[in-house]
Amino acid sequence: MNGRITGITGPTVRTDLPGLKLYDRVHVGHRCLTGEVVRLEREEVIIQVYEDCRGLAVGEPVKGQGEPLSVQLGPGLLSSMYDGLQRPLVNMVAEMGPFIRSASGISALNTDQSWEFHAQREIGVQVGPGDLLGYFREKKFKHTISVPPGVSGIISWIGEGIHTLSEPICRLADDSTIFPYHTWPVRTPRPYREKLAPEVPIITGQRIIDFLFPVARGGTCIIPGGFGTGKTILEQTIAKLTDVDIVVYAGCGERGNEMSELIEEFMELKDPITGADLMDRTILVVNTSNMPVAAREASIYTAVTISEYYRDMGYDVLLLADSLSRWAEALREISSSLEEMPGEEGYPTYLASRLAAYIERAGRVKTANGKTGSLSMILSVSPPGGDFTEPVTQALLRTTGVFLMLDTELAHARHFPAIHWRQSFSLYDKWISTYFEEHVNKEWGAMQHKCREILRQEEAKKEVMEIVGMEGLQDKDRLLMMAAEEIRSMFLAQNAFTADAFSSPLQTFQQIHDILLWHEQALEKLDEGRGFHQVIQDRPLPKFHLGSAEKPEPETPVGLSE
Ligand code: ADP
Ligand code: MG
Repeated sequence: MNGRITGITGPTVRTDLPGLKLYDRVHVGHRCLTGEVVRLEREEVIIQVYEDCRGLAVGEPVKGQGEPLSVQLGPGLLSSMYDGLQRPLVNMVAEMGPFIRSASGISALNTDQSWEFHAQREIGVQVGPGDLLGYFREKKFKHTISVPPGVSGIISWIGEGIHTLSEPICRLADDSTIFPYHTWPVRTPRPYREKLAPEVPIITGQRIIDFLFPVARGGTCIIPGGFGTGKTILEQTIAKLTDVDIVVYAGCGERGNEMSELIEEFMELKDPITGADLMDRTILVVNTSNMPVAAREASIYTAVTISEYYRDMGYDVLLLADSLSRWAEALREISSSLEEMPGEEGYPTYLASRLAAYIERAGRVKTANGKTGSLSMILSVSPPGGDFTEPVTQALLRTTGVFLMLDTELAHARHFPAIHWRQSFSLYDKWISTYFEEHVNKEWGAMQHKCREILRQEEAKKEVMEIVGMEGLQDKDRLLMMAAEEIRSMFLAQNAFTADAFSSPLQTFQQIHDILLWHEQALEKLDEGRGFHQVIQDRPLPKFHLGSAEKPEPETPVGLSE
């Protein structure tokens, strides 16, 4: 299939090429830029180009690939670094130096590398989609190979031993062959048997998240926050410390140096759970702010498809994206170059449904071969000017399970993570409290309730205190203010750069328990008729100064719009 470019508008190209299907992958121009069909008209086809369109001219060739935009899935993905089109960045740098040009010929997986296949099925066995054939050993994981969707038959040959990725590992009676890797269209969610209830938490080690706003395995969490409120640090801390098997980190349109720092840090760090290199469980999809805008869309879908692939092997996968707003901006740009009717603030009218369909792909599931796997998502959003009424935040607010609002004032006061405890929420709270009550302490839910209540009362009394001062408050209220202060500054705040960065559920429980116990006992003493100062002297506040956090000075001014 060959055609010509008939027009170029921003990142979209028009062509007269007949026979293309919606979302088909195409190669555009002499440089073979990768693009995707986004609209079919009577005589014209509109293509969104995922690479830099500069220098492209009308009349250059367009070639249809006859397949949708897909990713390669197979052993060798772990610890890789890809761009949005799943091209390995390391290989690209080796080939063309640090200034990366278009490169459609580079394969995502190294097809020459040899892997040892351990067969788990025998000749003569009937297999169907999702059935396990065997596994490769990838880092410390069993990388299982299943029959791809839509294939079934009796095994006529299965190859135990060393293979490169381009050699088959299994043949069926009808002569169909199964390779160690396959391709999957990024916009199609991978199938599973059933979705399970989100009742198990992921342990992020962040006290405010695990205790007040827990994220479920297979759940979704949105972190909206203005510039400098700590989105990137929070996402990266979670990527390092959370107790999941595999982490897929999509850097979407944020600054390039953040990505390179992340890579450097991950190369050195060890997995806190297993002690293995952190990179061994991580896949990075890098799409920085100076890469073409349209490619953000590709990177977001590439990342989720890779995550689903590992979920299907029965692993707990965490997908982090920083930040989804950049993708929404790309949608806006494409939409306007398609001359679509704009919705709110110029975003396309289908913005909310696109975001919702994406978030839908998270979940804890029973996979096609009966295993349990999960795909959890933690996605940051950067509303311009920190205004949470903008369309992207609002659309996500309706679909997400956890909403962690980062507050500019808290960030100003160097209270990190700057999660606002009144405006954030978790819909998994009830289920997960039950889990923690069974696994940590049966008082978990009760403590949570008390902690919330103290913070709420502090808020109510604050105004009075501002007028009459701390000294003018009643003794009981003074104790309450002290307890609340302690909860905020010692419990909810956590410095990501000290040993306090991770707090296990047991430590978290102990810490809040001690504060609340102190409050209760001090109140009792007051009731017995002791004076306020005596009570405080008898029972000083518990001290937790873990990691003796000397707070670093702000490097970036907080609250400025990007
Ligand atoms: P954003 O991505 O929202 O623009 P960053 O994540 O880059 O913001 O954070 C800005 C600054 O805030 C960081 O450079 C760091 O100094 C500080 N910071 C953010 N989160 C924390 C944290 N958990 N602990 C200590 N400092 C933090
Ligand atoms: Mg950031």
